[in-house]
Amino acid sequence: MSSEPTRRPLVAILSGAGISTDSGIPDYRGPQGLWRRDPEAEKLVTYDAYMSDPEIRRRSWLLRRDSPARHARPNGAHEAVTRLERSGVPVRVLTQNVDGLHQMAGMPPRKVLELHGTARAVQCTGCGARSDMTEALARVEAGEPDPPCLECGGILKSATVMFGQALDPVVLGEAIAVAKACEIFIAVGTSLQVNPAAALAGLAVEHGARLIIVNAEPTPYDPLAAELIREPIGSALPALLDTLGATGP
Ligand code: ZN
Repeated sequence: MSSEPTRRPLVAILSGAGISTDSGIPDYRGPQGLWRRDPEAEKLVTYDAYMSDPEIRRRSWLLRRDSPARHARPNGAHEAVTRLERSGVPVRVLTQNVDGLHQMAGMPPRKVLELHGTARAVQCTGCGARSDMTEALARVEAGEPDPPCLECGGILKSATVMFGQALDPVVLGEAIAVAKACEIFIAVGTSLQVNPAAALAGLAVEHGARLIIVNAEPTPYDPLAAELIREPIGSALPALLDTLGATGP
């Protein structure tokens, strides 16, 4: 690998809910997230409940329709990640978020690994067909409270990983490879209390990466970090990444 002298070191950026709060998206999923604090709400994103109860599905569609994430725009932190990538530094984003804001900010989709899937698409639980969330929500608006798959009539759900569902093994495998290969691993806006995010940070350090944590609250991985940044992500991340882009890792 080191036989390519021009190869620039890889920067992995693991992003959690904290990078999107400036875009108006609350933390639903984390240990202190809305879903965990409200068992009724958690059912809406729990696979077995969703599959077995049409009422849960009807409420889930309404939740998706009314979600603030639907019209959210990327913020300065997402834009800073894209700037770093465009400066020529090899960047891979591993994200716990399902909001699609990294791609909307201009990151090439193949460089963004969505560990928990995406809320921008729907997937059929029967035949696996995928389509746009926008189309499905248009059907909800038009009076289908639980729109079935147009291909096979199966149950549709957002293309996110619900509680009780396994992560996509291909995405996870790629994320592990990135964690092992990167020179710098930046964990931003994540509590590093939920796997696989936490495990990925540990794996990166084990394989020699420099760990930088940008998070307001302490995380279990703080003792392993080369640098801890507690300042607000909206200003701290652009400052950090613009420096990396200018000087190289
Ligand atoms: Zn189908």
